[in-house]
Amino acid sequence: MLGAGQAGLVAAYRLTKLGHEADVYERWPGLGGQAATIDIGDGYLVERYYHHLFTSDRDMADLCAEIGVELETWPSSVSIFRNGELHPFTTPLDLLRFKPMSLLGRIRMGVGALYLQKFANDVTPYEPMTIRHWVEKVMGKQAWEHVWGPLLYGKFRDQADDISMSWLWAKLRNRRQVTGEEAKEERLVYPKGSFESIFVRLRDLIEQQGGRVMIDRPAKEVSRDADGKFWVTPAGPDSFRRGHDPRNFEAAGEPERYDAVIAALPSDIFEQLLSPELAAEVGEDYLGRTRSIEYFAALCLLCVMDRQFHPFYWTNVADTDLGFIGLIEHTNLVPPEHYGGRHILYVANYLPRDHELLGLSMDELIEYYEPGLRKVNPEFHRSWIQQSWMFREPAGQPVVLPNYRERMPAYQTGVPGLMLANTTQVYPDDRGTNYAVREAEEVVATLLREQGLTAPPVRERFGVPLAA
Ligand SMILES: Cc1cc2nc3c(=O)[nH]c(=O)nc-3n(C[C@H](O)[C@H](O)[C@H](O)COP(=O)(O)OP(=O)(O)OC[C@H]3O[C@@H](n4cnc5c(N)ncnc54)[C@H](O)[C@@H]3O)c2cc1C
Repeated sequence: MLGAGQAGLVAAYRLTKLGHEADVYERWPGLGGQAATIDIGDGYLVERYYHHLFTSDRDMADLCAEIGVELETWPSSVSIFRNGELHPFTTPLDLLRFKPMSLLGRIRMGVGALYLQKFANDVTPYEPMTIRHWVEKVMGKQAWEHVWGPLLYGKFRDQADDISMSWLWAKLRNRRQVTGEEAKEERLVYPKGSFESIFVRLRDLIEQQGGRVMIDRPAKEVSRDADGKFWVTPAGPDSFRRGHDPRNFEAAGEPERYDAVIAALPSDIFEQLLSPELAAEVGEDYLGRTRSIEYFAALCLLCVMDRQFHPFYWTNVADTDLGFIGLIEHTNLVPPEHYGGRHILYVANYLPRDHELLGLSMDELIEYYEPGLRKVNPEFHRSWIQQSWMFREPAGQPVVLPNYRERMPAYQTGVPGLMLANTTQVYPDDRGTNYAVREAEEVVATLLREQGLTAPPVRERFGVPLAA
């Protein structure tokens, strides 16, 4: 297994539970990948990038129940920052009060969202069209101008107009029901003790079941013998300081031999890991698919503050001049008492990988964000920030363009025993730990079936069999 993120750990857990041997190689000196945590002081852990679960995240809920990790549910609050003001946006009633749009425009947007939730059971008709096209046609031009346009611009910049409607379909359908109890109050889910509880428990179970989880031990190269077995060449500790490209790592230790390899890491790293011979076996058709899906980088500033910054858990910034696209005040979801009284604020951005903001130092970034933060809370002063960290994830968000499914790489790479499972393959859902759990179960089942071994049943996606 390459990668000890949510997907890699679940896949190794499933394989070892079924009696197979599994080793997990991980580049970072910690578990959890994009959902990994840091200690913000006194042993309090929070994710480097803001994380929560939805009440609809069944795969994650089932996994946590199975492995004995407690999930807690908290009332959430959402707002949109538009025209220089914070507008509550948690319930359908909030939408009706959203001043930047006319009353008719608000009603039309609400009806559009309801229609999608209630009647649009099949994603297929939405796959070839863009969000812009659908929103302007069904929800109206105001909904695009004041809500979806700016939000998508924040997430996808110049590609905002081109994002597939299947992306919004999945977000609006799967994540939140605007009917029943949740219409009055949105509730979100968070693992007791942070996402680290899930990763540590999975690691312990993998090890109890005979597997190995090796952090700070990346793979440098994967090659294949004439007899079809794989060799994984490990790299030394601290390789992460050399960046993400494994070709820049130094080999350390003897290559190890495996019957199969699951690469649970981003597509570009997968290609960089392949020996030239193995890359040729995988072939241009498959690698072309992986290359055709662009990732946007996530840039996240994590601030520990001495006071509350604003009253919402989640604020979508729809005024593009603020310089960031979201504010996630974690301690407005899980209260500060759980962190020794600390207040935790994330300032979020998604950017093309070559964007200049990704080159700023943390101090420069705070300075750049300061005027925008003061627009949201004019009282804000930099001295409120007691500690801060900056994180950059190059594979933060796959860009979902129309007819994505036609280009999505399969788990099977075409080389028997070599599988790829990452955030580009959870479509039509958007990336998320819940889908990484489902994907891990699917890729394990696919691998076992391909090898002629007994595989557990998994839920179907698109009604298509998993293994060829
Ligand atoms: C800003 C942000 C916010 C998010 N918010 C949420 C949220 O609120 N809720 C939610 O459910 N999801 C959220 N997600 C998405 C979620 O974190 C991911 O979908 C999920 O963690 C992906 O898991 P993965 O295992 O597929 O990939 P990753 O987490 O990317 O794991 C890949 C692993 O491979 C490792 N690796 C890389 N190179 C090598 C190598 N050469 N050898 C060995 N290992 C290597 C990496 O270090 C990493 O640990 C968020 C993501 C981001 C970026």
